[in-house]
Amino acid sequence: MPSPVSRRQTSVPCPLSAVLRTAWALAAALALAGAAPAAGPVAPVAHDIAVRIDPATRALSAEDRIALAPGPARVVTLDDRYRDAALVVDGKPAPAPARERGLLVWRLPASERARVIEARWSGTLDPLDVKLDHRQALTAAAPVAGDAGTFLPAAARWYPNVEGELASFRVALDLPHGQKGVAPGRLVEERETAEGYRARFEFAAPVDGIDLMAGPYAVAERVVKGVGGKPIRLRTYFHAEVATLAAGYLDAVARYLSLYEGWIGDYPFSEFSVVTSPTPTGFGMPTLTYLGIDVVRLPFIRDTSLGHEVLHSWWGNGVYPDYAGGNWSEGLTTFMADYAYREREGAEAAREMRLAWLRDLAAVPPGQDRPLGEFRSRTHGTSQIVGYNKAAMMFHALRDAIGAQAFDEGLRRFWHGHRFRVASWRDLERSFSEAAGRDLAPFFAQWLGRSGLPAVRLAEASAAPAGSGFRVAVTLEQASPPWSVRVPLAIRTEKDEETRVVELDRARATFAFETAGRPVSVALDPGLAVPRRLGADEAPPILRQAMVDATTATVLLATSGPSLDAARALAAKLQDHALRPVAANAPLPASPVLAIGVETDVDAWLARHRLPPRPAALSGRGTAQVWTAARAGAGPVAVVSARDAEALAALLRPLPHYGRQSFLVFDGAKAIERGVWPSRPQTVVFR
Ligand SMILES: [Zn+2]
Repeated sequence: MPSPVSRRQTSVPCPLSAVLRTAWALAAALALAGAAPAAGPVAPVAHDIAVRIDPATRALSAEDRIALAPGPARVVTLDDRYRDAALVVDGKPAPAPARERGLLVWRLPASERARVIEARWSGTLDPLDVKLDHRQALTAAAPVAGDAGTFLPAAARWYPNVEGELASFRVALDLPHGQKGVAPGRLVEERETAEGYRARFEFAAPVDGIDLMAGPYAVAERVVKGVGGKPIRLRTYFHAEVATLAAGYLDAVARYLSLYEGWIGDYPFSEFSVVTSPTPTGFGMPTLTYLGIDVVRLPFIRDTSLGHEVLHSWWGNGVYPDYAGGNWSEGLTTFMADYAYREREGAEAAREMRLAWLRDLAAVPPGQDRPLGEFRSRTHGTSQIVGYNKAAMMFHALRDAIGAQAFDEGLRRFWHGHRFRVASWRDLERSFSEAAGRDLAPFFAQWLGRSGLPAVRLAEASAAPAGSGFRVAVTLEQASPPWSVRVPLAIRTEKDEETRVVELDRARATFAFETAGRPVSVALDPGLAVPRRLGADEAPPILRQAMVDATTATVLLATSGPSLDAARALAAKLQDHALRPVAANAPLPASPVLAIGVETDVDAWLARHRLPPRPAALSGRGTAQVWTAARAGAGPVAVVSARDAEALAALLRPLPHYGRQSFLVFDGAKAIERGVWPSRPQTVVFR
């Protein structure tokens, strides 16, 4: 019976596009200015916006008074749906705007004096479409309104945007009775009457845009005391169908704030809100997170992703990554949120997460595992695996190397030295070096600068009596040029098991230990503490490897027409690239192999190629079985075996969703068993 490793869904949509967008622009601007501000940087543009929205008719009308610092020629843009838009500059009407690519465009000449721009505009927003899927909801940039929800992303140019400039904001929002709205920043005024709802927000730090949300919200609020007694206003703006979840969310936000204030330093804002959306979004912004109604219902959001978003108040929205030199904030946030919560569950849960990371890294095709220092933002699956998971694994190795106390001290130094400034990997390195009392430049240079991961092999091990005890010799190998890695070795004796940590910095090295008890076995890093490329047995193959690798060879194992058709259709469904068919009797290539067919043909094919037979635990169960097998020196084999054409066709819809599994049993279209093969550490057993 295979012992499946249970898995949990942890990743949520955390595009944090707003975080990235804001911090990137800020980084660029501060780099241009030549220095980071000491405190309270002054924005070159200050908006004072009053906006009225009627979600029922989708009508928007607004005014803005923009204070513009002296400077070069500026371009002001606004969505061209606001056809009556007019600008007045220092009391004089500006010429009519040009229309370019869906925008109204005003070009203002350079000025040595500060200017004031007054703008008025009105128009009709797009209807809210709640049937968007997740990806559409994330990428849509149009302003939408409806009774169920209104969302004006900054990218929709819903206010006159001074291109390429950071701005501070005051936003006064008027809505009809029954609706409430929210924008990032401090809530300075709120009024609810029979006529309607009004709220004013201020965002004093310069940002590159303001998003605005509204809906038929029930607001729940709690004011908690932060470090030094500073009040922090926590709110949920929830739709009625999830309003009962508000207290739980407020509790959770309060817990996360307290956790991170104690761990890092005081929370840098005065509010944090969780706001629901009728579309399946997941956005992080300064002072709030905007999550789909159905997303909020998922229990793991509150337990994991919400904490990740709260922590971005420090890493991302509190200290801005220097994107040109690599984005450290996702890896550090993943390590201190997603991973930290697993550690609190226990050592086994934490190891399971590291195994999932390392298994994903082992499945990254060669050449795509880019150096960590090149990660800027998540653009595709592989960049996430490097930018989030490899970086988090590096922080794990760093903490092992310098100890938890120095690690935490380094975090606090980094925070206090860089809040509301742009900071680089080098700044992190300096903070940790100071805290640890040693130069960590070589450590960071290696992990940030090199692509791939070390592949450490337990080459040989021996044990012999020595004096009153025993002597164990262990030889480790890795490819050249070698990495410098701390490798834990678990040495089991008849008396006990102990872990010795060795420093490997050559291609081959032998380490000797004395033990009191008779040695039984030695295992290389069974706890998966080291960022390294796992061997075939350590990284049990999962279906996804054969699904995503464009070099995967496909073998169709069916003789009847309908079975062959079903096998071909399934092969195409499982792979999002052109199929590379290989005949059943052809030699197996070194690339991953996906074999699909009916039982008798599958068994004959396995035997012909001397592959392991159908796993006994799956044999004879359900209408179809799916499993993976590792091959020495070659890509894994994924096998899909069904009773007949009908059973194969039944897998078309469900099977593509099970890429993270090693094996499954299906009854028709229903998966009745699934799991991941256990990871087997590299071990030498002494005779
Ligand atoms: Zn994130």
